[in-house]
Amino acid sequence: EAAAREELDAAVAAHERATGRAADAQQRVDDLGTAIQQTRNQLDKAAQRAEQYAGSEYRFGSLVGPVLGYLSADEDERAGTSLNVAGNSSADPTGDLTDRLEAQQDTEQAAQAKLKQTRNAEKKAANTLADAEQAHGATVADLDAAQARVDELAAEKAARTPGGAAAPAAGVVQPAQGEFTSGYGARWGSSHLGIDIANDIGTPIVAAHSGTVVSSGPASGFGLWVRVQRDDGLTTLYGHINESLVSVGQEVEAGQEIATLGNRGQSTGPHLHFGVVENGEKIDPQEWLGRFGLRY
Ligand SMILES: [Zn+2]
Repeated sequence: EAAAREELDAAVAAHERATGRAADAQQRVDDLGTAIQQTRNQLDKAAQRAEQYAGSEYRFGSLVGPVLGYLSADEDERAGTSLNVAGNSSADPTGDLTDRLEAQQDTEQAAQAKLKQTRNAEKKAANTLADAEQAHGATVADLDAAQARVDELAAEKAARTPGGAAAPAAGVVQPAQGEFTSGYGARWGSSHLGIDIANDIGTPIVAAHSGTVVSSGPASGFGLWVRVQRDDGLTTLYGHINESLVSVGQEVEAGQEIATLGNRGQSTGPHLHFGVVENGEKIDPQEWLGRFGLRY
């Protein structure tokens, strides 16, 4: 189950990375779309300007040279000639305009090259997007597979634990793993009002149910103890503990580690003394756990 959870975590991380890549690629496609539109606008403007030059301005320009020549000529020369707007023999009145048109054509070519470049970049980004989306889909599939494996393993685990499936619904779990060494009832001429679970010092002890911590600290006979009370008043007792991990007033969940197993107080070896008080009566914990399909 731990391995499957690791796989799931890895798949979640991969899924996030792929989602990020897809978003990045989408952003590039959007940016390129904007760049393409800007380039198209520039091309339109260039085309408009070229039309203007080729149209009225060209015609106006063609008049400038001859008019200026006529005006700058001597009175005599002027008298002997007429204004010849068609003749360009003395100077090229369209030279400057030709330069400007060529410059304009260069600009237009550059803009078209840029458009082509941008289109290629757009195509590339679209491919990256497709790849990222594919990777995204694959990681989602990995994620689903890993989640399915986790669920499957959890179901297997529940099936192996007697009453395991019923336990989460009832919100009751076994307080510690270990060997059942002593039951509830008469023992050594007195009564033992709980059960003993032996294990190594430091073994986790968990709350058998959710509730509020009502005791945490030294207790006569038990050395150190923790008691947890449920909302309905039922109280569980965890004695001989090595260390308490909770404090009075704290809310705990079923299965939450509250203490470690110890050998304090009147104890002949490391074990947990587990007691249950229901309606003010110290009942048999094994019988109580049995109601939820749990047993040691
Ligand atoms: Zn005991």
